[in-house]
Amino acid sequence: MFTKIHSPVQQLKHPTLQQLWIKRDDLIDPYISGNKWRKLKYLLSKAQTENKDHLVTFGGAYSNHLLATAAAASRAALKSTAFVRGETVKNEMLMLCQLFGMTLLFVDRTSYKDKISLFDQHFGDDPNALFIDEGGASMEAVTGCAEIIAELPADIDHIFCAAGTGTTAAGLLKGIHDIGLKTILHVVPALKGGEFIAEEIFNYLGHTNQLILHTDYHFGGYAKTNPELIHFMKSFVSSQGVLIDPIYTAKMMYAIDDLSKKNYFRKEEKIMAIHTGGLMGIFGMKDKFF
Ligand SMILES: *Cc1c(COP(=O)(O)O)cnc(C)c1O
Repeated sequence: MFTKIHSPVQQLKHPTLQQLWIKRDDLIDPYISGNKWRKLKYLLSKAQTENKDHLVTFGGAYSNHLLATAAAASRAALKSTAFVRGETVKNEMLMLCQLFGMTLLFVDRTSYKDKISLFDQHFGDDPNALFIDEGGASMEAVTGCAEIIAELPADIDHIFCAAGTGTTAAGLLKGIHDIGLKTILHVVPALKGGEFIAEEIFNYLGHTNQLILHTDYHFGGYAKTNPELIHFMKSFVSSQGVLIDPIYTAKMMYAIDDLSKKNYFRKEEKIMAIHTGGLMGIFGMKDKFF
């Protein structure tokens, strides 16, 4: 199922930037979308080589990673279980996870913090269960995300991506260095205190060369928004015809737009935004849009 893909690249309209493009990884799959497909690719081959038939992972109640894992597991004929952070809830995302056959175990926020011990308690004696960290964070995921770069033109000045754990960003930076490009990677953390992303990337790669973090576009923190971001997102979606989400990709696109207004770029520079997908998660934010 994880055959070679090559998601399309398309140009965006912009009042000043002449070369603003978007890599449509959101189009890879409706449920295993964007960077989650990239991150799971080599974790699934690991499951296969190690004869694991059960993916066990972790996430919040609106996690794109849980849905991606559930859908990927069902297509690869594997079982899947998720430890879901917090009290028992019912929502559209978890409904889809269950439809794809995922078992959901709700755990309180304190127990959730110790993922290894949760795994050991429930699956410690199951040799066929594979531990997959929250968000799919792993070296396998970095390897999968690095492949995005090989699908892009070599003459891009700036690549932008949104970050949660920083794994995707680490992969993109690895791809840039593997090919020896001059491209700068700009990372827009979706959470407050996003400086830790640089450490994460350093832990994976041993350097952070050609990396720039833009930590001021979190809009109050993870899954937080304000009317300005919602207004930006509405006008982006309606004028470009490309759906983005308020948690990650809208913050990235806002950052590009805001930096352009501050004359951060030369107008002919080539900018590539990575659309990391995650569009099902937008239903968790529906109250913000009316
Ligand atoms: C999960 C997710 C991210 C964050 O990816 P990391 O590798 O954890 O930094 C970014 N964008 C979207 C749409 C996501 O679903």
